[in-house]
Amino acid sequence: MRGFLYSLFLLLILFNTNFSYSKVISTEEWARNAWGNLETTEVTTKKVSDSLFLLYGLGGNIAVSTGVDGVLIVDSQIPIIFPKIMKAIEKLTDDKIIYTINTHWHWDHADGNLLINPQDTKIISHSNARKNMKSGGIINHGLNEKLQQNPYPSNALPVITHEKGMSLFFNNEKIDIFHFGSAHTTGDSVILFNNQNAIHMGDVFFSNSYPFIDVDNGGSLDGMIEFLENVILLIDDNTIVMPGHGDIASRNDIEDTVKMLKNMRERILNSIKKGESLEAVLNSKITKDYDSKYNTISMRGMFIDRAYTSLKKIKLN
Ligand SMILES: [Zn+2]
Repeated sequence: MRGFLYSLFLLLILFNTNFSYSKVISTEEWARNAWGNLETTEVTTKKVSDSLFLLYGLGGNIAVSTGVDGVLIVDSQIPIIFPKIMKAIEKLTDDKIIYTINTHWHWDHADGNLLINPQDTKIISHSNARKNMKSGGIINHGLNEKLQQNPYPSNALPVITHEKGMSLFFNNEKIDIFHFGSAHTTGDSVILFNNQNAIHMGDVFFSNSYPFIDVDNGGSLDGMIEFLENVILLIDDNTIVMPGHGDIASRNDIEDTVKMLKNMRERILNSIKKGESLEAVLNSKITKDYDSKYNTISMRGMFIDRAYTSLKKIKLN
């Protein structure tokens, strides 16, 4: 009997492992499903100022600082688009990329590192972001969608890391990197270009949609709110806000997002207290008054799933 139970136990483990593993897809498979033909996507350049630009391509928006010291970029998107990113930068300047700052470890912001020459370019990130890039990991979008991000080789890893932030003096400007605790991930950085009064937010802020919170890797809804509240104190009404995804925004847009997140926190927490399942919350009209503004790229389900999971953790603790 004991032998039989043990076999059953092993079988269950095997079944469960296979079951969950079968749902993990590669980042490339996900990108092709979500973004269509990756090969034909073009990079567009938006001028923020004479020496600061925002590039849209595939993945997180890239900020480009140009000037006397060379080029500094924030995030590197993915290898399939990276040659086009380089061409877009070459149209702005002949100078080399001296620094790349990764806002966090996610593939759509950092896989481009694989094509960066470490002899020309020093990569900078939060220490936790580097740790995640080195180990790779599974990014759980919720709604039964999991992505496998592969570990990076040493040439694609940051060589400079920070814990709570740091400053660079580059292109006649003080560029400040801030980290206000775990939010979207455990290693988020926002980058403030002081002379331009412009800030790159990474994925702590999406301007046109509900955010994604990487709860399985240490992100949390409360962390997102706290991080954004710190950024609001840091900037002013005229600051140009460059989101991880979406169009250029303002402090007012961040304030609106914080209000939405706080309201959704209260609503989802109430549902949890009433014993409502995640499925029930997903099928309810809980986000109805926000959907026209924030469900623009069908992020509603992913957001609710991750926010619910994040709040459920608090309740259990
Ligand atoms: Zn991300």
